Amino acid sequence: MIITADRIHDGEKWLPLQTAIEIADDGTITNIYHNGHPEAEYITGVLTPGFVNVHCHMELSHMKGVIPEHTGLIPFLQGVMFRRNDFTEEQKINARHEAYETMWQNGIVAVGDIANGTDTLDLRSKEKMHVHTFVECIGFSDTTAPQRFEYSRGVYDQFAAQHSTHVKLKQSIVPHAPYSVSKALFKLIDRHEPSEIISIHNQETPAEDQFYIDKTGAVNDLLDSLKIDASFFEPSGKSSLKTYIEWLNPHRPVVFIHNTCTGIEDLHKVQAHQYNSYWCLCPNANLYIENRLPDVPMLMAEGADICIGTDSLSSNHQLSVLAEIATLKKHFPQIEWETLLQWATSNGAMVLNMQDEIGSIAIGKKPSIVQILDLDSTPLAKRVV
Ligand SMILES: [Zn+2]
Repeated sequence: MIITADRIHDGEKWLPLQTAIEIADDGTITNIYHNGHPEAEYITGVLTPGFVNVHCHMELSHMKGVIPEHTGLIPFLQGVMFRRNDFTEEQKINARHEAYETMWQNGIVAVGDIANGTDTLDLRSKEKMHVHTFVECIGFSDTTAPQRFEYSRGVYDQFAAQHSTHVKLKQSIVPHAPYSVSKALFKLIDRHEPSEIISIHNQETPAEDQFYIDKTGAVNDLLDSLKIDASFFEPSGKSSLKTYIEWLNPHRPVVFIHNTCTGIEDLHKVQAHQYNSYWCLCPNANLYIENRLPDVPMLMAEGADICIGTDSLSSNHQLSVLAEIATLKKHFPQIEWETLLQWATSNGAMVLNMQDEIGSIAIGKKPSIVQILDLDSTPLAKRVV
């Protein structure tokens, strides 16, 4: 088919008016006509490549609405940990399958998905969306680091054994967050498959830096409630990010998630240390949990590579990349849609290393095509291809 629209975004920029795209039956883009095409079918609104959701937790989909808004991160995490198993297996399965299908309907073509166990193997076998599974490793005691790592490696191996001829299935073992992973565990994770990207929940709450600077604050409450003895932990006197970045191999690609409290010095430290760093924004989850947003203008001014995530249904009302960038537009109206759509598509594809197939409208690629209606009021995404 050949289609055109009011505006077409190719993943990086707006294409000239009149541009028409030819798409084969299997979804591959076979031609781009910059001066239009007489047989092109006109579609109202905006066309973009399929969205990339860099950060999600499909395994937590059954937690929708369970934790109230604006509790702050530490009570939120306690709520998730103590209540995530108050559900039947059937409730969990139904909720995550529904979440997967909704993301697909919302125009998402690839997802970076956190997994603590193997619950989401069944979702990857649906083979609609490309999936990079971030197998999350948690363990704050140095002494248990080898056991915690071995558990995660067992989970990783089950994901790695899964193959598809239709979609990309990738995986890596990743640290959960600076306050839940010891230095010893960071190092074990970092040595595993060092070319694969890792993600980390970064500076989502002021309590995280506070704990690293002088070991005070609400992280202690979290560790106490989990009966974790943190007596071995010595504060560095620096922010969490400035501390743990030195534990990572500079060649390891890293995507930092949330960054609600990240400052310019943190960013500069990462840029000086890491060859490839990416900054994933999940604004609706930040508003849900902490009711604050990252310093997005600073990240942009300093040349950070930004991408978008939805986080989970435990901390969000929906799983929609478009809803995330609409929130950014509302709070930072100076950011152009051209830029926001790039974060939502080609930047995410680059982070998940899937840019050879998705994230941009280019001949030979198979990005899926999404229609956006009412971009400037209440944007709504519909899948076209
Ligand atoms: Zn998360």
